[in-house]
Amino acid sequence: MDLISIDSLSDADVDGLIGRALAHFDDVRSGHAAASLDGRILFNLFYENSTRTLMSFAAAAHRLGMAVVTLPVEQSSAKKGETLGDTARTLGAMRPSALVIRHQQDGAAGEVAAIIDAPVINAGDGTNEHPTQALLDAATLVRRFGSLEGKTVAICGDIRHSRVARSNAKLLPRLGATVRLAGPAKLMPADADAISIDEAIAGADAVMMLRVQRERLEEELGDAPGEYLRLYGLTPERLATAASDAVVLHPGPMNRGVEIADSVADDGDRSLIATQVEMGVAMRMACLELVVGRAEA
Ligand code: ASP
Repeated sequence: MDLISIDSLSDADVDGLIGRALAHFDDVRSGHAAASLDGRILFNLFYENSTRTLMSFAAAAHRLGMAVVTLPVEQSSAKKGETLGDTARTLGAMRPSALVIRHQQDGAAGEVAAIIDAPVINAGDGTNEHPTQALLDAATLVRRFGSLEGKTVAICGDIRHSRVARSNAKLLPRLGATVRLAGPAKLMPADADAISIDEAIAGADAVMMLRVQRERLEEELGDAPGEYLRLYGLTPERLATAASDAVVLHPGPMNRGVEIADSVADDGDRSLIATQVEMGVAMRMACLELVVGRAEA
Protein backbone atom coordinates (compact mmCIF):
# COMPACT_ATOMS: atom_id res chain seq x y z
CA MET A 1 0.00 0.00 0.00
CA ASP A 2 1.01 3.62 -0.48
CA LEU A 3 0.44 6.44 2.01
CA ILE A 4 -0.30 9.37 -0.27
CA SER A 5 -3.23 11.02 1.50
CA ILE A 6 -5.22 10.65 4.71
CA ASP A 7 -7.80 9.11 2.33
CA SER A 8 -5.34 6.22 1.75
CA LEU A 9 -6.10 4.99 5.29
CA SER A 10 -9.10 3.14 6.71
CA ASP A 11 -10.32 4.01 10.22
CA ALA A 12 -8.72 0.78 11.42
CA ASP A 13 -5.40 1.82 9.82
CA VAL A 14 -5.57 5.20 11.60
CA ASP A 15 -6.33 3.61 14.98
CA GLY A 16 -3.58 1.04 14.45
CA LEU A 17 -1.03 3.70 13.51
CA ILE A 18 -1.82 5.86 16.54
CA GLY A 19 -1.63 2.86 18.86
CA ARG A 20 1.70 1.70 17.39
CA ALA A 21 3.12 5.25 17.47
CA LEU A 22 2.23 5.66 21.15
CA ALA A 23 3.95 2.34 21.91
CA HIS A 24 7.03 3.28 19.84
CA PHE A 25 7.16 6.68 21.60
CA ASP A 26 7.58 4.96 24.98
CA ASP A 27 9.89 2.26 23.60
CA VAL A 28 12.23 4.81 22.01
CA ARG A 29 12.29 6.81 25.26
CA SER A 30 13.19 3.71 27.25
CA GLY A 31 15.62 2.40 24.63
CA HIS A 32 13.58 -0.69 23.72
CA ALA A 33 12.62 -0.17 20.07
CA ALA A 34 12.67 -3.46 18.13
CA ALA A 35 14.38 -3.83 14.75
CA SER A 36 11.27 -5.23 13.03
CA LEU A 37 12.37 -4.18 9.51
CA ASP A 38 15.94 -5.45 9.68
CA GLY A 39 17.56 -5.86 6.27
CA ARG A 40 15.12 -3.59 4.41
CA ILE A 41 16.14 -0.44 2.51
CA LEU A 42 14.43 2.97 2.62
CA PHE A 43 14.99 5.54 -0.14
CA ASN A 44 14.51 9.19 0.89
CA LEU A 45 13.81 11.57 -2.00
CA PHE A 46 13.41 15.20 -0.90
CA TYR A 47 13.03 17.87 -3.59
CA GLU A 48 12.10 20.50 -0.99
CA ASN A 49 13.92 21.52 2.17
CA SER A 50 13.26 19.59 5.32
CA THR A 51 14.73 19.18 8.80
CA ARG A 52 12.10 17.38 10.87
CA THR A 53 10.52 15.12 8.25
CA LEU A 54 13.76 14.04 6.57
CA MET A 55 15.61 13.33 9.80
CA SER A 56 12.69 11.65 11.53
CA PHE A 57 12.08 9.25 8.63
CA ALA A 58 15.79 8.40 8.71
CA ALA A 59 15.80 8.00 12.51
CA ALA A 60 12.59 5.92 12.37
CA ALA A 61 14.00 3.63 9.68
CA HIS A 62 17.27 3.15 11.57
CA ARG A 63 15.39 2.34 14.78
CA LEU A 64 13.52 -0.37 12.87
CA GLY A 65 16.79 -1.79 11.52
CA MET A 66 16.38 -0.47 7.95
CA ALA A 67 19.24 0.96 5.92
CA VAL A 68 18.51 4.50 4.67
CA VAL A 69 19.71 5.94 1.38
CA THR A 70 19.02 9.64 0.76
CA LEU A 71 19.29 10.98 -2.78
CA PRO A 72 21.13 14.32 -2.78
CA VAL A 73 18.61 15.89 -5.18
CA GLU A 74 20.79 18.95 -5.87
CA GLN A 75 23.54 16.67 -7.20
CA SER A 76 21.18 14.22 -8.94
CA SER A 77 20.17 13.80 -12.58
CA ALA A 78 17.08 15.91 -11.80
CA LYS A 79 19.51 18.81 -12.35
CA LYS A 80 20.29 17.40 -15.83
CA GLY A 81 16.62 17.54 -16.73
CA GLU A 82 15.55 13.98 -15.89
CA THR A 83 11.78 13.83 -15.39
CA LEU A 84 10.25 12.78 -12.08
CA GLY A 85 8.79 9.74 -13.83
CA ASP A 86 12.20 8.61 -15.12
CA THR A 87 13.81 9.19 -11.73
CA ALA A 88 11.04 7.09 -10.18
CA ARG A 89 11.55 4.27 -12.71
CA THR A 90 15.30 4.37 -12.05
CA LEU A 91 14.98 4.24 -8.28
CA GLY A 92 12.23 1.62 -8.48
CA ALA A 93 14.53 -0.64 -10.47
CA MET A 94 16.89 -0.68 -7.47
CA ARG A 95 14.12 -2.40 -5.50
CA PRO A 96 13.96 -0.35 -2.29
CA SER A 97 11.62 -1.68 0.42
CA ALA A 98 9.93 1.74 0.57
CA LEU A 99 10.37 5.25 -0.82
CA VAL A 100 9.59 8.53 0.94
CA ILE A 101 9.10 11.58 -1.29
CA ARG A 102 8.68 15.32 -0.72
CA HIS A 103 8.10 17.42 -3.82
CA GLN A 104 6.93 20.92 -4.63
CA GLN A 105 4.23 19.71 -7.06
CA ASP A 106 0.75 18.69 -5.90
CA GLY A 107 0.23 15.05 -6.87
CA ALA A 108 3.95 14.17 -7.21
CA ALA A 109 3.83 11.38 -4.61
CA GLY A 110 0.85 9.78 -6.32
CA GLU A 111 2.61 10.01 -9.66
CA VAL A 112 5.65 8.17 -8.31
CA ALA A 113 3.48 5.58 -6.53
CA ALA A 114 1.77 4.76 -9.83
CA ILE A 115 5.15 3.98 -11.39
CA ILE A 116 7.10 1.98 -8.82
CA ASP A 117 6.27 -1.30 -7.08
CA ALA A 118 7.70 -0.33 -3.69
CA PRO A 119 5.35 1.35 -1.22
CA VAL A 120 5.52 5.16 -1.40
CA ILE A 121 4.96 7.56 1.51
CA ASN A 122 4.07 11.18 0.80
CA ALA A 123 6.25 13.49 2.93
CA GLY A 124 4.52 16.58 1.50
CA ASP A 125 3.43 17.30 -2.09
CA GLY A 126 3.12 21.00 -2.86
CA THR A 127 0.12 22.51 -1.08
CA ASN A 128 -1.78 19.23 -1.23
CA GLU A 129 -1.11 16.84 1.69
CA HIS A 130 1.35 15.85 4.40
CA PRO A 131 -0.37 12.82 5.89
CA THR A 132 2.36 11.68 8.31
CA GLN A 133 2.42 15.18 9.86
CA ALA A 134 -1.32 15.01 10.54
CA LEU A 135 -0.94 11.50 11.96
CA LEU A 136 1.82 12.60 14.33
CA ASP A 137 -0.23 15.66 15.34
CA ALA A 138 -3.21 13.44 16.12
CA ALA A 139 -1.06 11.00 18.12
CA THR A 140 0.47 13.92 20.08
CA LEU A 141 -3.03 15.13 20.99
CA VAL A 142 -4.25 11.62 21.85
CA ARG A 143 -1.22 11.17 24.12
CA ARG A 144 -2.12 14.40 25.92
CA PHE A 145 -5.92 14.15 26.07
CA GLY A 146 -6.54 10.39 25.85
CA SER A 147 -8.99 10.92 22.97
CA LEU A 148 -9.94 13.60 20.44
CA GLU A 149 -13.66 12.94 20.82
CA GLY A 150 -15.42 16.29 21.42
CA LYS A 151 -12.20 18.33 21.28
CA THR A 152 -11.87 21.55 19.25
CA VAL A 153 -8.69 22.21 17.33
CA ALA A 154 -8.03 25.70 15.91
CA ILE A 155 -5.65 25.67 12.93
CA CYS A 156 -4.49 29.22 12.27
CA GLY A 157 -2.31 31.05 9.78
CA ASP A 158 -1.42 30.32 6.18
CA ILE A 159 -4.18 27.78 5.49
CA ARG A 160 -4.08 28.34 1.71
CA HIS A 161 -0.56 26.99 1.28
CA SER A 162 -0.62 24.43 4.07
CA ARG A 163 -0.56 20.74 3.25
CA VAL A 164 -0.45 20.23 7.04
CA ALA A 165 -3.81 22.00 7.45
CA ARG A 166 -5.32 20.03 4.57
CA SER A 167 -4.30 16.64 5.98
CA ASN A 168 -5.34 17.59 9.53
CA ALA A 169 -8.71 18.89 8.31
CA LYS A 170 -9.32 15.41 6.89
CA LEU A 171 -7.94 13.38 9.79
CA LEU A 172 -8.96 15.13 13.02
CA PRO A 173 -12.75 15.06 12.36
CA ARG A 174 -12.47 11.30 11.70
CA LEU A 175 -11.23 11.04 15.31
CA GLY A 176 -14.16 13.04 16.69
CA ALA A 177 -12.59 16.52 16.80
CA THR A 178 -14.02 19.76 15.45
CA VAL A 179 -11.55 21.73 13.32
CA ARG A 180 -11.72 25.53 13.03
CA LEU A 181 -9.62 27.05 10.23
CA ALA A 182 -8.69 30.75 10.38
CA GLY A 183 -6.15 33.09 8.86
CA PRO A 184 -5.62 36.39 7.08
CA ALA A 185 -8.04 36.70 4.11
CA LYS A 186 -5.15 36.50 1.62
CA LEU A 187 -4.01 33.22 3.17
CA MET A 188 -7.39 31.44 3.24
CA PRO A 189 -8.62 29.09 0.49
CA ALA A 190 -11.49 30.58 -1.55
CA ASP A 191 -13.99 27.97 -0.30
CA ALA A 192 -13.22 28.27 3.44
CA ASP A 193 -15.70 29.71 5.95
CA ALA A 194 -14.35 33.02 7.16
CA ILE A 195 -13.93 33.13 10.92
CA SER A 196 -11.45 35.36 12.69
CA ILE A 197 -8.35 34.08 14.50
CA ASP A 198 -9.92 35.26 17.76
CA GLU A 199 -13.12 33.31 17.11
CA ALA A 200 -11.12 30.21 16.19
CA ILE A 201 -8.98 30.27 19.34
CA ALA A 202 -11.73 31.13 21.86
CA GLY A 203 -12.41 28.02 23.94
CA ALA A 204 -10.28 25.73 21.73
CA ASP A 205 -8.59 22.70 23.31
CA ALA A 206 -5.63 22.89 20.94
CA VAL A 207 -4.22 25.69 18.80
CA MET A 208 -2.06 24.74 15.82
CA MET A 209 -0.16 27.66 14.33
CA LEU A 210 1.13 27.57 10.76
CA ARG A 211 4.11 29.25 9.15
CA VAL A 212 3.50 31.92 6.50
CA GLN A 213 4.87 30.11 3.42
CA ARG A 214 6.46 33.14 1.78
CA GLU A 215 8.19 30.86 -0.76
CA ARG A 216 4.74 30.05 -2.21
CA LEU A 217 3.32 33.60 -2.05
CA GLU A 218 3.18 35.60 -5.25
CA GLU A 219 2.59 38.98 -3.59
CA GLU A 220 3.87 40.51 -0.40
CA LEU A 221 1.51 40.42 2.58
CA GLY A 222 2.34 44.01 3.37
CA ASP A 223 2.86 43.24 7.06
CA ALA A 224 5.31 45.48 8.85
CA PRO A 225 7.56 43.79 11.46
CA GLY A 226 5.42 42.81 14.45
CA GLU A 227 2.20 43.41 12.52
CA TYR A 228 1.42 39.77 11.68
CA LEU A 229 1.88 38.69 15.31
CA ARG A 230 -0.37 41.47 16.53
CA LEU A 231 -3.14 40.79 14.02
CA TYR A 232 -2.98 37.02 13.50
CA GLY A 233 -0.31 35.47 15.71
CA LEU A 234 -0.54 33.39 18.87
CA THR A 235 0.25 35.79 21.70
CA PRO A 236 -0.14 34.93 25.42
CA GLU A 237 -3.26 37.15 25.43
CA ARG A 238 -4.92 35.16 22.62
CA LEU A 239 -3.91 31.83 24.18
CA ALA A 240 -5.56 32.95 27.44
CA THR A 241 -8.95 32.88 25.63
CA ALA A 242 -8.56 29.16 24.75
CA ALA A 243 -9.61 26.36 27.15
CA SER A 244 -7.73 26.49 30.46
CA ASP A 245 -5.82 23.29 29.62
CA ALA A 246 -5.34 24.17 25.92
CA VAL A 247 -2.16 23.04 24.20
CA VAL A 248 -0.12 24.61 21.40
CA LEU A 249 1.12 22.84 18.27
CA HIS A 250 3.28 23.96 15.34
CA PRO A 251 4.57 21.67 12.58
CA GLY A 252 7.76 23.72 12.24
CA PRO A 253 9.77 25.48 11.10
CA MET A 254 8.55 28.35 13.28
CA ASN A 255 8.80 32.02 12.41
CA ARG A 256 9.26 33.23 15.97
CA GLY A 257 7.68 36.61 16.60
CA VAL A 258 5.56 36.25 13.43
CA GLU A 259 2.89 33.54 13.81
CA ILE A 260 3.89 32.66 17.37
CA ALA A 261 5.32 34.61 20.30
CA ASP A 262 8.50 33.24 21.88
CA SER A 263 6.90 32.91 25.30
CA VAL A 264 4.11 30.73 23.85
CA ALA A 265 6.46 28.57 21.76
CA ASP A 266 8.63 27.95 24.81
CA ASP A 267 5.83 27.50 27.36
CA GLY A 268 6.82 24.22 29.01
CA ASP A 269 3.24 23.30 30.03
CA ARG A 270 1.26 24.37 26.99
CA SER A 271 3.63 23.91 24.05
CA LEU A 272 3.74 20.38 22.59
CA ILE A 273 6.05 21.41 19.76
CA ALA A 274 8.99 19.28 20.94
CA THR A 275 6.64 16.36 21.64
CA GLN A 276 5.41 16.60 18.04
CA VAL A 277 8.98 16.15 16.83
CA GLU A 278 9.50 13.17 19.15
CA MET A 279 6.18 11.68 18.02
CA GLY A 280 7.34 12.25 14.43
CA VAL A 281 9.92 9.50 14.80
CA ALA A 282 7.45 7.16 16.52
CA MET A 283 4.68 7.76 13.96
CA ARG A 284 7.03 7.31 11.02
CA MET A 285 8.16 4.01 12.53
CA ALA A 286 4.50 2.96 12.61
CA CYS A 287 3.96 4.13 9.01
CA LEU A 288 7.02 2.29 7.69
CA GLU A 289 5.93 -0.90 9.45
CA LEU A 290 2.45 -0.60 7.97
CA VAL A 291 3.42 -0.02 4.34
CA VAL A 292 6.36 -2.44 4.25
CA GLY A 293 4.36 -5.05 6.17
CA ARG A 294 1.48 -4.83 3.66
CA ALA A 295 3.88 -4.97 0.71
CA GLU A 296 5.44 -8.15 2.04
CA ALA A 297 2.21 -9.85 3.13
N1 ASP B 1 7.17 21.52 7.57
C1 ASP B 1 5.82 21.66 7.12
C2 ASP B 1 5.70 21.29 5.66
O1 ASP B 1 6.69 20.92 5.04
C3 ASP B 1 5.23 23.01 7.39
C4 ASP B 1 5.98 24.19 6.81
O2 ASP B 1 6.92 24.04 6.03
O3 ASP B 1 5.57 25.31 7.15
O4 ASP B 1 4.63 21.33 5.11
